Amino acid sequence: MSIDYKAKSWIQVPENSDFPIQNIPFGVFVKGESQPHIATRIGDTVIDLFAVSEGGVFTDMSIDNRVFNKSFLNDFIALGKEKTNAVRQRIAEIFDIKNTDREKWQTALLPVKDVQMLMPVKVGDYTDFYSSIDHATNVGKMFRDPENALLPNWKHIPVGYHGRASSIVVSGTNIHRPKGQILPKGETQPIFSPSRLMDFELEVAFVTGKKTALGDSIPTNEAEDYIFGLTLFNDLSARDIQKWEYVPLGPFLGKNFGSVVSPWIVTLEALEPFRTEGYKQDPEVLDYLKYSGKRNFDINLEVYLQPENAEPTRICQSNFKYMYWNMAQQLAHQTVNGCNINVGDVYASGTISGPEKDSFGSMLELSWAGQKEIKLKNGDTRKFIQDNDTIIIKGYGKKDGVRIGFGACVTKILPAK
Ligand code: CA
Repeated sequence: MSIDYKAKSWIQVPENSDFPIQNIPFGVFVKGESQPHIATRIGDTVIDLFAVSEGGVFTDMSIDNRVFNKSFLNDFIALGKEKTNAVRQRIAEIFDIKNTDREKWQTALLPVKDVQMLMPVKVGDYTDFYSSIDHATNVGKMFRDPENALLPNWKHIPVGYHGRASSIVVSGTNIHRPKGQILPKGETQPIFSPSRLMDFELEVAFVTGKKTALGDSIPTNEAEDYIFGLTLFNDLSARDIQKWEYVPLGPFLGKNFGSVVSPWIVTLEALEPFRTEGYKQDPEVLDYLKYSGKRNFDINLEVYLQPENAEPTRICQSNFKYMYWNMAQQLAHQTVNGCNINVGDVYASGTISGPEKDSFGSMLELSWAGQKEIKLKNGDTRKFIQDNDTIIIKGYGKKDGVRIGFGACVTKILPAK
């Protein structure tokens, strides 16, 4: 259930905020030396849900308040959608402008600038898909055959690989440029060097909220019951390391030195208004990948590059609706062989490019493998990310005057260590 679109909060919500009362995302914050707590956010105000829970407002839902006194959302998410959605609904009632009983909640409210957001979930497993047809086509054109850009399996399988969970970090964490083996152009022997081709990948990730047993499979029409919510995701990529290492077993050290998520998990329920059709899938997919209904989401995505001491330039405008394979199909495919899933797993979409040149979701595509320069507001140009550049990803849906967004996913690339 979505929260009433006409609702307003008694907490001030700035114009163009990602966090109206209809969003109610979940995250984890810490203030100073205190214990981390589970929180939500309205406008620029973080709401400490452990403090709210101590007012006894969730006791009729049979929720143990201790799930809010945690460093990760996993135990809260594991309560199940019925309870977590009831919590969203209750928060919407407490902070609705019609509620005049406001004084008792003041101690739960903190300005967002006074807290530090932490990694929202403890990630057990991480999968990265490759589900944007425009991205896969661009990469195929650049590195293989422009006439046969997609590999023969691409339109039959939501292609993916298992990545590294431990190096997924929260927005605001800065990442050092990785070092590794690269094969300089025209050479036959590799050298050891800091990556010279640092890139971002604009992605959206979903977090699972229910587990399955080994051997179980999730059908597409049940997949969304297992999806708790979504975050923005920056799959930082060292293209030169990746290029030398990826045959035959796929991405490894070019990808696992740091991936960045936005701190608030926006629930699937909050994103209901933005459902839309996906690309028509042709050829027809196998039965276990067939689906009904609208499974794509119209969520505007933007990437900004900010050089040190300069203003940010928007270098990409894309949309989550450009996914060829939707999340229900990805999860059905992930589990079709009996692979089990857990609460807090992260499944990233793959780079989300659209059909237009300014909608490409990586520097690799924007600069067309380094053949073109990307112009910045301060007069600089880029082909790949330079040291001390900050990459900012933003995402939001907008309908009937209500904007629901993710907040920013920010990381700065530091010089190699
Ligand atoms: Ca990726």
